[in-house]
Amino acid sequence: MSQIRECFSWFMIGRYGADKLSRFLIGFSVALLIAGVFIRNSWVDILAFLFMALCYFRMFSKNIRKRFEENQKFERLSFRVTEVFKKWRFKIQQIRQYHIYKCPSCSQKIRIPRGKGKVSIHCPNCKTDFVKKS
Ligand SMILES: [Zn+2]
Repeated sequence: MSQIRECFSWFMIGRYGADKLSRFLIGFSVALLIAGVFIRNSWVDILAFLFMALCYFRMFSKNIRKRFEENQKFERLSFRVTEVFKKWRFKIQQIRQYHIYKCPSCSQKIRIPRGKGKVSIHCPNCKTDFVKKS
């Protein structure tokens, strides 16, 4: 067993190895394989196989710079995607806790906490007062 491991580590010398993108690819192909059990469409299995193959291709690749750049691109993209989700979650939280009213005279948006009954709102922009249900 240790011989196999030694062989493998010798084989991996100068090769790229695993990174965040390859872990994502493996996870995605496993998810596709599981989905394939329920969907029963051979394209799902083919897609899963392709993602798996791509992952192994990247891990055993000797073009380390290119693989590194791919991973950088992936990390930037995944950062952007998680930021979008965070913003969405924040907006949903805000909607649950606050009412957003527009000032009738200057249409400045004003955030009012929910569940306080009728409140008089003072616009910080044009100093107009108006009454709304919170
Ligand atoms: Zn106003």
